Amino acid sequence: MKYDYKVAVIGAGSAGLVSSYIAAAVRAKVVLIEKHKMGGDCLNTGCVPSKALIRSAKMLSYAKRAKEFGFKSSTVEFDFAEVMERVQQVIAKIEPHDSVERYNSLGVECINGDAKIIGPHEIEVAGRKITTRNIIVATGASPLVPPITGLDKVKYLTSDNVWELRKLPRRLVVLGGGPIGSELAQCFSRFGSEVTQVEMLNSIIPREEDEAVELLSKKFESEGVKLLTSHKAKEIIIEGEEKILICEKDGKEVKVPFDEILLALGRRANIKGSGLEELGIKIRQNGTVDADPFLRTNIPSIYVCGDVTGPYQFTHTAGHQAWYAAVNALFSPFKKFKADYSVIPWCTFTDPEIARVGLSEKEAKEKNIPYEVTIYGIDDLDRAIADSEAHGFVKVLTKPASDKILGVTIAGTHAGDLIAEFVLAMKHGIGLNKILETIHIYPTLAEANKYAAGNWRKNHKPEWLMKLLGIFHYLRRKL
Ligand SMILES: Cc1cc2nc3c(=O)[nH]c(=O)nc-3n(C[C@H](O)[C@H](O)[C@H](O)COP(=O)(O)OP(=O)(O)OC[C@H]3O[C@@H](n4cnc5c(N)ncnc54)[C@H](O)[C@@H]3O)c2cc1C
Repeated sequence: MKYDYKVAVIGAGSAGLVSSYIAAAVRAKVVLIEKHKMGGDCLNTGCVPSKALIRSAKMLSYAKRAKEFGFKSSTVEFDFAEVMERVQQVIAKIEPHDSVERYNSLGVECINGDAKIIGPHEIEVAGRKITTRNIIVATGASPLVPPITGLDKVKYLTSDNVWELRKLPRRLVVLGGGPIGSELAQCFSRFGSEVTQVEMLNSIIPREEDEAVELLSKKFESEGVKLLTSHKAKEIIIEGEEKILICEKDGKEVKVPFDEILLALGRRANIKGSGLEELGIKIRQNGTVDADPFLRTNIPSIYVCGDVTGPYQFTHTAGHQAWYAAVNALFSPFKKFKADYSVIPWCTFTDPEIARVGLSEKEAKEKNIPYEVTIYGIDDLDRAIADSEAHGFVKVLTKPASDKILGVTIAGTHAGDLIAEFVLAMKHGIGLNKILETIHIYPTLAEANKYAAGNWRKNHKPEWLMKLLGIFHYLRRKL
């Protein structure tokens, strides 16, 4: 059978862009179909706008800390609408990287339209039917909107539409204590909103190490974010002009009045409308598309990558999976590669940043994996002290009696950048001894990694050798 294309990719977010790029790079005829904006969530409503907003909020937080840096005072006048316009300008600057023009120039044909898969090798889009040897589904995910009673009575915000705000909310409720909720809660609080963050579990960023949770929670509270953990959102009511969220805590009702409410309660895979269910593609209980380790669905010609399949929902994991989905689709049955999830890093871009790779202590305990813990406190680091950012830690889990790294959490300024050394180390089997042997520039934040390795070494120095050395030096002095 002849097909119009070797591969058709549905969705031009991080996963779809990388898949189509790879197909074009090896000269396969590829079409990329996007119904909304090229770049998907990451560029338009996710990573890029959130990091741009975080940057402006950070400038404000520095201004508030002027005295710490030796200034008498500092006041910043700003118009929130202009800050939000800057966010759009940042998106516009990055847009060309993901544009139709760029992808066309790379050899990818782009179609603007809502794609529906109508057969294992057939897609309907923009009033035409196209045939393809393989399909890669990269349709992403959308903010989860739970059935909270009364939610329909208010105009709620999600990560999709919060970027349209031009007026700073006076009182903002952020529902959800995960990374997205926490990043945005801190941002809006720094701009001056009265922020209440509501989380059903007993802490924010619950997946992370207890020390990181404690550090971040204290920072949030010191900056004025009201944390309502162990609070379950039950209902939204309107009393006169007032919008009120009703939560339940230990069986009691807690009322939280607000002007705007932002839902950051997780993300649901985009399945509906793309023909997957009608075709009998297996969907997991959590709503993501099921795939084998080669990222192939139960229909052999259809592959999947990115947020729509998970389990990780990050831009870098979407791109990572996209490589496997594309290569496996292009070269199967000659060669197949299992997606490698052994070393996955991520970062919550709050201040302080919380970055992680591999196991946390909680996970090691849950999985019964033996481990040792080494901690280095960044409060002791020369560069962090010079920068007035002397807080946080590097926490490393190692295999008992070995320098093999099982997992690392870094909390502190630029933690998301600092963790890269450990990601490389874990990926290539480099242990803490090798990190200790490596020269790190003085004075940098990166030295924290070396000092963590140094702490591990101190705890594992061979006592018999130390005793022997003591005797050797004693004798040399005496004889
Ligand atoms: C506020 C926020 C902050 C974030 N910050 C970070 C961060 O700092 N770092 C990080 O790594 N990740 C971050 N993420 C997550 C990251 O944005 C996602 O993991 C990533 O965008 C997933 O890429 P994707 O290609 O799987 O999906 P998407 O980017 O969602 O792309 C899917 C595309 O498919 C299109 N589509 C869907 N159905 C169809 C159809 N039937 N036909 C045609 N097109 C279709 C959609 O329009 C969309 O453009 C953040 C997310 C949010 C919301």
